[in-house]
Amino acid sequence: MSSPYLCPKCKTNRTRFHQIKQEAQPVKLDPKSGEIAETYEEAHLDAFHLNYNGPEIRIQCGACGLNESEQAFTAYAKNSPLS
Ligand SMILES: [Zn+2]
Repeated sequence: MSSPYLCPKCKTNRTRFHQIKQEAQPVKLDPKSGEIAETYEEAHLDAFHLNYNGPEIRIQCGACGLNESEQAFTAYAKNSPLS
């Protein structure tokens, strides 16, 4: 089910957005250099590495550039519905 969006910053844009798909790549870093020491499949994380549990998408307003959770845009649209 989809919900309408309204940008909470510019307060006018309801139509132009970027839906940014989040693709989590689990990595193990070298603690000194920050370089990637190892990458994993999500299913094969070691015991101390939590699975990604962030949102699947972020939204950027195509009018003012605000980058927020999808919920921020749908909640604002609910408060200010199109008549
Ligand atoms: Zn905006």
